Amino acid sequence: MHRGENADVADLAGMFRRPRHEAFLRHSRELVAEHGLGEGLIAGRVHSIRTERTHLLVQGEGVEVAARRVLIATGSNAHRVPPWARRLQGEGAPIHHAFGPSAPLDHDILGGGISAVQRALLVHRATGRTVRLWMRQPVRVADFDIDRSWGKHRFVGRWTEMQVPDRLDFLRRHTGRGTVPSGLASRLARAVRRGSIELEHEVPSVEWDPSRERLLLRGEGRAVESSGVTLATGLQRETLSGWLRSFAESSGLPVINGVPRLERDMHWGRGVYVCGPLARLRLGPMASNIVGARWATSKLPSVRMLPV
Ligand SMILES: Cc1cc2nc3c(=O)[nH]c(=O)nc-3n(C[C@H](O)[C@H](O)[C@H](O)COP(=O)(O)OP(=O)(O)OC[C@H]3O[C@@H](n4cnc5c(N)ncnc54)[C@H](O)[C@@H]3O)c2cc1C
Repeated sequence: MHRGENADVADLAGMFRRPRHEAFLRHSRELVAEHGLGEGLIAGRVHSIRTERTHLLVQGEGVEVAARRVLIATGSNAHRVPPWARRLQGEGAPIHHAFGPSAPLDHDILGGGISAVQRALLVHRATGRTVRLWMRQPVRVADFDIDRSWGKHRFVGRWTEMQVPDRLDFLRRHTGRGTVPSGLASRLARAVRRGSIELEHEVPSVEWDPSRERLLLRGEGRAVESSGVTLATGLQRETLSGWLRSFAESSGLPVINGVPRLERDMHWGRGVYVCGPLARLRLGPMASNIVGARWATSKLPSVRMLPV
């Protein structure tokens, strides 16, 4: 946060001086207003990019925009849902994702990271009932889900010195594992001691009985009934799909394991630039975070320097 001095200290929490949610929202609103970001906004989904002779044609819902350059910043979109859960959802079972638009206050929660613990505490606070939290393994306490050293700019150089297979292997092993910051882990331990949360270190097998509208969760040596399960299983690792994949294929853009191969200045090819999780081969594990967005911005060529 680049705001004033002491007046803002109250907006920052804990040893790492994280901005409070309200402060972060206010900061974002101020940035949008200051840079007039709302002015060029066209609401709607893009569904294709075509390469024309002199420009790119970006096509969305009822809109076409001609552009010389395009920055793809589509973020992470798909919820991670295990295949068994997807199958039961198809049968009408009450299984929801924590990031869904209106996930109900289910008393069974699956997941081992910060979202699972926050959700369990929230459901207990809202309903006063005991919440079962199903975790595959003991809580992994870490104040950042990725080693903080990777958040320092000089490590981007080290990252790009690694061979591409090593980068892919690193990303597979070190991201999306689910960790809990120490303060939240203490709150969880207190809630378990008080009986507000029951911690189950296993993934239950789940059956759906549509006639009774009940889920049956079987763990080791016991089975419990449930009226609904919330998956706090995070987001899928973003790879090219749909219109973006078609665009890459038709334009012959370089792709490794479903991820764009980018040049130093985030250029993918044909006037198209990429940031966010799809830029992880270039920026490393921080690509999808705010710090990754800032790095991407610092590498993008200034619009004034680009040929028109
Ligand atoms: C629970 C949670 C906690 C997080 N906490 C942090 C944190 O503390 N610090 C941090 O740095 N990061 C955090 N992150 C990561 C965070 O998501 C990113 O930092 C930030 O949101 C990235 O912004 P973005 O603009 O790249 O992507 P997003 O915020 O994902 O935005 C992508 C946008 O693109 C739009 N879009 C997608 N496809 C299309 C299309 N075809 N046409 C038009 N628009 C499209 C989407 O609708 C969306 O508005 C967290 C993420 C989660 C899920």
